[in-house]
Amino acid sequence: MTQPLPTAIIGAGPIGLAAAAHLLARGETPIILEAGPEAAASVRQWGHVRLFSPWSYLTDAPARALLEERGWVAPPDQDYPSGAELVERYLEPLSRHPRIAPHLHLERRVTGVARLGFDKMKTQGRENAPFVLTTAGPHGPERFLARAVIDASGTWRTPNPLGASGVAAAGEKQAAERLFYGIPDVLGAQRERYAGQHTLVVGSGHSAMNALLDLVQLAAQAPGTRVTWALRRANPDSVYGGGANDQLSERGALGQRLRHAVDAGLLNVRSGFRADTVEQQGAQLSVHSGAQRIDRVDRIIVATGFRPDLEMLRELRLDLDPATESPRALAPLIDPNVHSCGTVRPHGALELQQPEPGFYIVGMKSYGRAPTFLMLTGYEQVRSVVAELTGDRVAARDVQLVLPETGVCSVDSGGGCCAATPAGVSLEDFSLPASDPPPFTRVD
Ligand SMILES: Cc1cc2nc3c(=O)[nH]c(=O)nc-3n(C[C@H](O)[C@H](O)[C@H](O)COP(=O)(O)OP(=O)(O)OC[C@H]3O[C@@H](n4cnc5c(N)ncnc54)[C@H](O)[C@@H]3O)c2cc1C
Repeated sequence: MTQPLPTAIIGAGPIGLAAAAHLLARGETPIILEAGPEAAASVRQWGHVRLFSPWSYLTDAPARALLEERGWVAPPDQDYPSGAELVERYLEPLSRHPRIAPHLHLERRVTGVARLGFDKMKTQGRENAPFVLTTAGPHGPERFLARAVIDASGTWRTPNPLGASGVAAAGEKQAAERLFYGIPDVLGAQRERYAGQHTLVVGSGHSAMNALLDLVQLAAQAPGTRVTWALRRANPDSVYGGGANDQLSERGALGQRLRHAVDAGLLNVRSGFRADTVEQQGAQLSVHSGAQRIDRVDRIIVATGFRPDLEMLRELRLDLDPATESPRALAPLIDPNVHSCGTVRPHGALELQQPEPGFYIVGMKSYGRAPTFLMLTGYEQVRSVVAELTGDRVAARDVQLVLPETGVCSVDSGGGCCAATPAGVSLEDFSLPASDPPPFTRVD
């Protein structure tokens, strides 16, 4: 092998693309393997949703530096883009940048990551073997070699099921045609499916809130539209968030808008509901939680959260928290069972490291099943991870992020999460090397 191997990035979402920009800024070669036909494939699927973070929290410093080289003008800091605008004004131009585009391989879904010639059991010489990534897609199976791997594949493609136990509810698969996992565009492209129908939304996070508020708006326009919200918690008051105390005002406002809609009787609320069975009821569905039932449902929106795809990582040695499925050291900072703040103290390569040297899980996937990930967190993660991978241990350890507080802290895990800290972030400046890095190595 004559060329040094590249660092592979799985996923061209906001964090994967930022990782590429950080690698380029340090004179390294990325190779980005993206499952979708375009970069930011997951964000495109929720393009109709307005973000609760303003632009000032949504872009990464070296990525901006790359774009500015080509005359990019940053959107106004205080504006709140939709997912589609985030793609159009930032992620798409970044993915098409001449320094990034040659390294971006679309329609390559990574199905396996391993050490070349070493299955999980083999130890002797393991750390010197390159990584081999197997992909699937219209190009057929391919293999790519890499010196390090940054898994930024998110969790959007692996939603949790309707069943409250984490496995599919009885009848869930049979009812698939009437179920939607995520946030459908009920006021736009999918309006016809929901107008005049009775929709049950299951879940209590931001996705559920977005779906419920859109449906309430649809109900005001389309006669016969009914909305029911089912959540496991006994009291919906605990999900509305920090309101005016949230340092991200739009995140706080989301919960408050939902509270007003509930108080105004614009939707039915079924708290303490743990879906276990979906039954056909004539042309409609009936959803059960033990002896409780919600009848005459036409559509179900499953907004019960997401989980990381760990199947593709089976041949790697991982150390994940048994509850959150995040890197173990990160779990105490983000586990909603012990940490209610919705934000985390700064962390980087040290907390994200795995028993497999050179392999890191970053971005949304690094939070495993925990729901509170913010893009800024991911940008700081990849800054630190790339510094570590390029031997700059000082920069890798110097994590600097301060995230906006949710205003709903009830438990201080000892990490200082609940101190009143100013919102803001300090990211290092990077200068970009003039020459393009060498091409990637591929093994067919
Ligand atoms: C509706 C919604 C609103 C949000 N709003 C905010 C907000 O306002 N502020 C904020 O900070 N955060 C917000 N987030 C949280 C988070 O910042 C985003 O989800 C963000 O997109 C996460 O970036 P990511 O790069 O980690 O993952 P993703 O954006 O999910 O990108 C992962 C990429 O990997 C690809 N991929 C997946 N599997 C594979 C595979 N096996 N092989 C190859 N490629 C693969 C996907 O196609 C995708 O392009 C929001 C999330 C959602 C869902």
